[in-house]
Amino acid sequence: MLALHEVAPGVLVATSRVMQTTSTVVVEAGRALLIDPAWMPDELDALVASLRERGLTVAEGFATHAHHDHLLWHPEFGSVPRWASARTAELARLERDALVAALGAGFPAELVELMGRVDAGSPTFDVELVVHDGHAPGHTAVWLPELRVLVAGDMLSDVELPLPFWPDDVPAYERALDVLEPYARSARVVIPGHGNVGTDALARLEADRRYLADMRRVGESTDPRRANPGMAQEYERLRELLA
Ligand SMILES: [Zn+2]
Repeated sequence: MLALHEVAPGVLVATSRVMQTTSTVVVEAGRALLIDPAWMPDELDALVASLRERGLTVAEGFATHAHHDHLLWHPEFGSVPRWASARTAELARLERDALVAALGAGFPAELVELMGRVDAGSPTFDVELVVHDGHAPGHTAVWLPELRVLVAGDMLSDVELPLPFWPDDVPAYERALDVLEPYARSARVVIPGHGNVGTDALARLEADRRYLADMRRVGESTDPRRANPGMAQEYERLRELLA
């Protein structure tokens, strides 16, 4: 089983061994909304077992954005509606070959087949979708208004630096932070796509703003996340592009 931790009433999070990728389960009346289930095939099998053990039936899925590690599914989650923003659904179709390639040659065919099969639309759960173009076009945060939980997708990470999408659209990322700010202000809990669940959504948002502003203005940043796996490379990439 993949350990599911309850981070708010009816909100469960599992964390992959790869890049601390999170899977989020929102439970309403025994029905589960599964957001970005990830990532390795054995972990998806384990998530099936964990949900079964808790007596949860997957009713719907949601993908926050069109990157390969956020579009996954497992046959035993069922053939239920899987939603995403219109732009995410479009990109999942248009960029399917590259997304499949990013999963690697050894990825099981049955999981490859199910990857990215999302439609434009909203879950029937009590959620508000917050669509912006930071990190990926059509990226969507899922806001749970009653619980004040922000499922941020690949934004507001405590371990990853801001990663503007190719060709490094920093202005889109900065606008996305503006869109997210009222939710971050109000959030009791923030669940990033990679990293640790926290109660510091606004502090994370301010750190991301500071990082991008420093990179733009002086071409460098002392953000401690630079020391995390893979981040030195991302830092240099952004620095060169902004130079
Ligand atoms: Zn991503």
